[in-house]
Amino acid sequence: MTTKRAKVVIIGSGPAGYTAAIYASRANLEPVLFEGFFSGPAGGQLMTTTDVENYPGFPEGISGPLLMEHFRRQSTRFGTILVPDDVVEVDFSSHPYTVRGKNNEYLADCVIISTGATAKRLDIPGTHDGELWQKGVTACAVCDGAMPIFREKDLYVIGGGDSAIEEATFLTKFAKKVYLVHRRDELRASKIMQQRAIEHPKVEILWDTVITCVDGEHVVEKVHLKNVKTGKEELRDAGGVFFAVGHKPNTGFLKGHIDLYDTGYIKVENGTTRTSKELVFACGDAMDHVYRQAITAAGTGCMAAIEAERELAARGIAE
Ligand code: NDP
Repeated sequence: MTTKRAKVVIIGSGPAGYTAAIYASRANLEPVLFEGFFSGPAGGQLMTTTDVENYPGFPEGISGPLLMEHFRRQSTRFGTILVPDDVVEVDFSSHPYTVRGKNNEYLADCVIISTGATAKRLDIPGTHDGELWQKGVTACAVCDGAMPIFREKDLYVIGGGDSAIEEATFLTKFAKKVYLVHRRDELRASKIMQQRAIEHPKVEILWDTVITCVDGEHVVEKVHLKNVKTGKEELRDAGGVFFAVGHKPNTGFLKGHIDLYDTGYIKVENGTTRTSKELVFACGDAMDHVYRQAITAAGTGCMAAIEAERELAARGIAE
């Protein structure tokens, strides 16, 4: 494997990575972007979303994969070099930094990390790819909740954290009723969020309950519920099942190289994309556990590229 040289290497190909690439390439930094390969399709989480209706600029909505194709094309238009490879290792101990993929290695003056996060899914029969995943089972109410298949239906949100409450209350706009299915008798969510769910007339919390199976011929039609304390089982009509059991940032390969929170999210200096290592920037869902939207990921991708350009210029590496 020959080692190549780059001013900027961007790791990850979601809205954050491609936006960083658009800005960096327009600043003549000739960025190299590792798009991923075995880790999943280039484009990140939006590749598994159907209609994106909240991304500004598309009043009629746009499909997730098509939106990402636009991002991708816009990045190459200004000279971004796309590398279809997964980064397996980085070395930030000496500068220029090493970024090693399975088949490609780069020495980079600056690294932008935009590896995103993966919504956790549970191993429930009926919810897997090829079953009812994306046919009424999803892991993002804000992305998918407004779809017609969920209107005026009984929807089930799994989880007891802030995300679960946020998703459940969001879904009340469309649903007949939203059931929050939580495995314990106490919510993990903050008190203020808990209150929001408890007081909402359209939200009912099913305590000590799990979903054991999801049925439906083409879309979700039924959920099998089980009370984990009493063992009582129940079969109910359902129009949708939403996982809200947390996200996992894709940052395993960074452990020991930059500062991460215990949850794996990348630590950045407040209001910037600067990590604990000089000339290493982080953007998108890999550093943001709060907003996690395509538009905020794109926004922080832009910030990372501008900050990178300024720091490289200050060191005389860029104009
Ligand atoms: P959390 O990790 O806080 O919550 C995950 C929930 O999923 C928990 O209730 C957990 O149950 C449940 N869960 C996990 N695994 C399973 C399983 N195998 N079976 C059934 N249930 C399971 O993740 P969130 O995404 O909710 O929140 C992440 C972070 O983001 C938090 O810090 C949160 O405060 C923040 N956030 C803030 C928001 C806001 O301020 N508006 C909005 C959304 C998130 P259990 O409780 O039993 O462990």
